[in-house]
Amino acid sequence: MVAEGLVTRFHGGFCYVMVNGVVKACLPRGRLAAGGLLVGDRVKVRVARECVVEEVLPRRTELLRPPVANVELAVLVFSLRDPEPNFKLLDRLLVASRAAAIEAVICFNKLDLMEGAFPEELNVYHAVGYQVLLTSALTGEGVAGLRAVLTGKISVFAGPSGSGKSSLLNAIEPSLHLKTGEISRKTRRGRHTTRLVELLPLPGGGFVADTPGFAQLDLPDIPAARLASSFPEIAAAGVECRFNDCLHLREPDCAVQRAVAEGVVAPFRYRHYVNFLQEIRDRERRSWS
Ligand code: GDP
Ligand code: ZN
Repeated sequence: MVAEGLVTRFHGGFCYVMVNGVVKACLPRGRLAAGGLLVGDRVKVRVARECVVEEVLPRRTELLRPPVANVELAVLVFSLRDPEPNFKLLDRLLVASRAAAIEAVICFNKLDLMEGAFPEELNVYHAVGYQVLLTSALTGEGVAGLRAVLTGKISVFAGPSGSGKSSLLNAIEPSLHLKTGEISRKTRRGRHTTRLVELLPLPGGGFVADTPGFAQLDLPDIPAARLASSFPEIAAAGVECRFNDCLHLREPDCAVQRAVAEGVVAPFRYRHYVNFLQEIRDRERRSWS
């Protein structure tokens, strides 16, 4: 019998595949044994006394760090306090998600530590069109909303260590028994991470990687002209620029510079856009010389 399944981990030469809700130890066949598979791959398995992975189905997305196929959602986790959110890092992760064609939601955690007004930046992300979740892994507030977002999808958590990724996963599914910092620590194992990424099945359906996404914080290798597509409000304003190839720096009749001056585009978002553009151009220059 041949059944379809999803690769959840590799261990001891076996590839573990979830088939109809049951994890089976399988042997990958031929070239698939030699690194041709990633966790997250949808595969065809010949189910017998010895299960064999016979075929891998086309990937929808392919993340390299950590190596996971078919990730649909990145949950970008930042704490509201201890430490305070780094919005430049958040924007970097939004660019990385977009380049990988992975939908992003933003989760601000440690809601219980929040006193007084929320940072103005939170409204900006919401207004720009991102889904913004507020959670406390400690009190459980907002956790049901996060669980709902993850259901049925393959997700990765990303964000600085200490923001509460491991704690949130435990709050979502206590049987995972992750130690605090466990998710963050995984990346630091460097090149061995490949063998170790595991997809944890969620009870309501769906999977989440036990290693944070976008471990490499270099900007993705995209052309300068494509950067604005990761800033929806800048892309929208840019439609009105005089030049089609306007990069919104110092060009005349630039609608984005006007939108920043008028407060329609938040200055901090524009600043990050300009910083990232510079980074991309520096890299392009280096690769030519
Ligand atoms: P990770 O490195 O992103 O996996 O973060 P951890 O889950 O290890 O959390 C880092 C620290 O923050 C730990 O000491 C947690 O107990 C604490 N923490 C996590 N979530 C919350 C929260 O919602 N509220 C509070 N007050 N502390 C939290
Ligand atoms: Zn412009």
